[in-house]
Amino acid sequence: MSPVQLAEFPCKYCGKTFADGRGLGGHVRQSHPAKQRSIPAPASHSSEGEAAARVLELWRSGNDPLTVISTLRVHPKFVKDVLAEYDGLLNEWKKFREA
Ligand SMILES: [Zn+2]
Repeated sequence: MSPVQLAEFPCKYCGKTFADGRGLGGHVRQSHPAKQRSIPAPASHSSEGEAAARVLELWRSGNDPLTVISTLRVHPKFVKDVLAEYDGLLNEWKKFREA
């Protein structure tokens, strides 16, 4: 008879369970990189992904959103969405550094 396992660490991304937090941590880092975790990834629109990448590129090199919009001729809402997502990534990164 085995006792009920209380010390199980389930992965919240795929449901796999681990005997300890270290095992779970290693698994999450390897199998679910931060990029995959924070972006819901509608991978079907690859051209949209490319546009998003260009928006980020311009944004990172110091252009304001209006310049990005007029340079790439994309919809302002698209730029806003991309930058909001980018903000989320930045925040996650900051949290990670503070931890
Ligand atoms: Zn997992």
